[in-house]
Amino acid sequence: MGHEQVVFCQDPATGLNAIIAIHNTTLGPSLGGTRLWNYSSYNDGLIDALRLSRGMTYKSAISGLNLGGGKAVLIGDASKLKSEAFWRRYGKFVNSLNGKYITAEDVNTSKADMEFIGMETEFVTGKPEYMGGSGDPSPVTAYGVFVGMKAAAKKAFGSDSLSGKRVLVQGAGNVGRYLMGYLTEEDAVVYTCDINESKLKQVTDLYPKVKVVANDSIFDLDIDIYAPCALGATVNTESIGKMKCPVIAGGANNQLEDEDVHGKMLQEKGIVYAPDFLINAGGIINISVEIEGYNKERAMSATERIYERTLSIFEVAEREGITTQLAAMLMAEKRLKEIGGLSIGM
Ligand code: NAD
Repeated sequence: MGHEQVVFCQDPATGLNAIIAIHNTTLGPSLGGTRLWNYSSYNDGLIDALRLSRGMTYKSAISGLNLGGGKAVLIGDASKLKSEAFWRRYGKFVNSLNGKYITAEDVNTSKADMEFIGMETEFVTGKPEYMGGSGDPSPVTAYGVFVGMKAAAKKAFGSDSLSGKRVLVQGAGNVGRYLMGYLTEEDAVVYTCDINESKLKQVTDLYPKVKVVANDSIFDLDIDIYAPCALGATVNTESIGKMKCPVIAGGANNQLEDEDVHGKMLQEKGIVYAPDFLINAGGIINISVEIEGYNKERAMSATERIYERTLSIFEVAEREGITTQLAAMLMAEKRLKEIGGLSIGM
């Protein structure tokens, strides 16, 4: 996948087993979250780190940020491993890269964990607000997904109003929950599903109009918009076969199981797909603002630009007769090439 550097870190005393993948630093230091997950094999963890860090390169490039792509994967059981010593040992490894990799929150890592990492390195973001950080990125990510979804609605239905549109949000976690807040405010008809009952209860307590549906029958529903906000690879041959929705726009990373195959299948079926790395960039945009000195208003207005960017990707895709995924990737690659070219001969 063209990575610049992959670092393997071990500390038997704390049980730390980390892979830091630096995909590309053409635009700036690589930045991406730290994911702590009990992978079924070391190889699965490595593949995840490689795929996710590559995704970060594209996400930052298309968002106009001066950041590269990186990601860290820590292998093991979160309920057993987390401790101050564990995070500080990891922080020392991050520090040893001298800023080539900057870390942040991801699955199973919290603001408090970032605080421990921050005791050993300055190369950490997403710290709590009281430490000058930007806190939880999910509300900003959800806002970007919301405006990206509006752009997709405009393309598919001729209007960007989501009022009355039937939207299925798969995954009622952080991004899903905030997204449902924006959707109910706009009077969309919202359905959700999750494997965790407590997350569903949290959402229906907040938004009583949201309807809960069974996980295994989501594609039987008549919906206008499918918003994947749980795991990756949910857009695949089987699910596309069942889909009746004209639009896919959600927050999950790596939604297409295979970028080429499933991007084309969606195009052939006439489903408008808002590329994930384009519309879920609110979190990284938020962090880029934190690096400059945090200001929530600036983060939100920078995230709002996802709307125009998504519309222009649809335009390019239609004009060139290519998938929206490919159009977005080519736009990111163009910026990488142009900005990378600036340093030649300097
Ligand atoms: P989260 O862990 O808070 O929420 C994910 C939810 O999905 C959980 O409630 C989980 O129970 C549920 N889930 C897992 N498997 C499921 C399944 N098979 N069916 C239904 N629900 C299932 O995570 P999050 O921060 O909300 O992130 C959601 C997605 O968005 C992830 O793919 C993440 O990588 C991506 N993302 C998040 C951010 C951010 O700012 N948090 C930024 C960019 C991308």
